[in-house]
Amino acid sequence: MHPDLQGIKVAVLGGDAREIILVSELSRLGIKLQVVGLPVQNTPNVTTCCNIADALRGVQAVILPVPGINKDGTVYSIFNDQPLELNEKLLVSLPADTPVFAGFARELLVKMVKRCNLRLIEVLKQDHVAILNSIPSAEGAVQMAMEATPITIHGSNSFVLGYGRTGATLARLLQGMGAKVTVVARKEAHLARVYEIGMRPLTYDDLLKHVSEADIIFNTVPALVLTSGVLSRASSEVVIIDLASPPGGTDFDAAERLGIKALLAPGLPGKVAPKTAGQILAQVIPRLLAEELGL
Ligand code: NAP
Repeated sequence: MHPDLQGIKVAVLGGDAREIILVSELSRLGIKLQVVGLPVQNTPNVTTCCNIADALRGVQAVILPVPGINKDGTVYSIFNDQPLELNEKLLVSLPADTPVFAGFARELLVKMVKRCNLRLIEVLKQDHVAILNSIPSAEGAVQMAMEATPITIHGSNSFVLGYGRTGATLARLLQGMGAKVTVVARKEAHLARVYEIGMRPLTYDDLLKHVSEADIIFNTVPALVLTSGVLSRASSEVVIIDLASPPGGTDFDAAERLGIKALLAPGLPGKVAPKTAGQILAQVIPRLLAEELGL
């Protein structure tokens, strides 16, 4: 059950299909939404605004899209012809401690929110949200691999680098599809769990020895793990799907030099399953709003 959020005023700035679902769900809870940059209709609970200043007027909380803003302050907003620029002049109009939600925040947003005395809540940093979000991410990665390879996932030698929230979900999905799954991780406990569920565990040192066996490599580690040294031992036919946040964990220049197909795959939930991804946000944001606003 959702907390009583009737009548609270919230700004929604930009986004993609996920935020359209979110606006619809939040408005059903009686939240008054001031929306900019999304193709939504005006209703008693939804007011569309022409600019960020209007959307921020009198609100108790701000919802930014999952990727937040880029390094120039442009709000991620796929439906807008004109860029939506967020800056401190706009944010400083909000009362101190106003919660600002984003999926995750890059450096500029962290700085701006701090300097304006607001509170940043990175929704995807919450463990349960990251786990739920790993479901569409894993499916999207598999879809990309299916499109990029001439082989089936079934029977493929699929390597998953990293055994965190995304890596664990992806490895299990691949195993369920009949792939021969190798998981590369650094924690003993992760390697033991991988062995227990019938996949092959490998350390990063062992990766060098075995990488030539891989048909597909899925990277979920947000650090350079697919170095030119590792890639030079891989088959030129291997396909790399790098899910880690940009710039990913692959030396893409080396991959290109070696003729290896390597694809960076950001924002998969929003691309392959916007409805589910929006519903995940709609499940968690009401409770977070209530917590942050002390309701
Ligand atoms: P997570 O739960 O923190 O898992 C990260 C994994 O990377 C862990 O296994 C961690 O190992 C490992 N790792 C981190 N730094 C490492 C290093 N220097 N060397 C070796 N291993 C290292 O994160 P997650 O939620 O799975 O997300 C993983 C990445 O995918 C993030 O960059 C996230 O932003 C991105 N992501 C992308 C999409 C998309 O659509 N493309 C969707 C979801 C997430 P330990 O456990 O040993 O620390």
